[in-house]
Amino acid sequence: MESYSGDINRLIEELGALPGIGNKSAQRMAFHILGLPMDRVKRLSEAILTAKQNAKYCKMCYTLTDQEICPVCSNPKRNHKMIMVVETTRDQVAYEKTAKYEGVYHVLHGAISPMNGIGPSDILIKELLERLKGDVEEVVIATGSALEGEATAMYLSKLIKPAGIKVTRIASGVPVGGELESIDEVTLLRALEGRVEL
Ligand code: ZN
Repeated sequence: MESYSGDINRLIEELGALPGIGNKSAQRMAFHILGLPMDRVKRLSEAILTAKQNAKYCKMCYTLTDQEICPVCSNPKRNHKMIMVVETTRDQVAYEKTAKYEGVYHVLHGAISPMNGIGPSDILIKELLERLKGDVEEVVIATGSALEGEATAMYLSKLIKPAGIKVTRIASGVPVGGELESIDEVTLLRALEGRVEL
């Protein structure tokens, strides 16, 4: 990497630190950016800055959004008595793409993982319990099928069921959170429709 000047190297390093971008891709992107007209580069960097500056958690479901209350939570046509619990905003978006789920969501921003030192208080479970004090009929647990997702599902079901709220789990076979978006909508829909009561 001695062959590029400091500024170009820095750009390649920053791009290469992004997920899924190897050094070759980072170089290709860097030189693509350097070949763009200045106004395009300004638009790109402004889009990154603006999205970052305005991104916040929805006050109700904690998904990442640029509004106080996200479009799903502020939609009166959604069933607010049904809450689907997901690990990430990306998972929520994947389910939203099926266009068949009519309830609302709760984003935990992670899953319980004792191996990685992530306990119940490290993800947004307290916030979920707070929401359940309202009028809720069903909680659909749609955390991933890996160890962490299952542990989280078990933990939540033990916590919520005594409150007399129906707790269901999406059908198995859906991979871990963050990977949901790579699954086709039919599979997600089948997992949702095949959910079982815990
Ligand atoms: Zn929301």
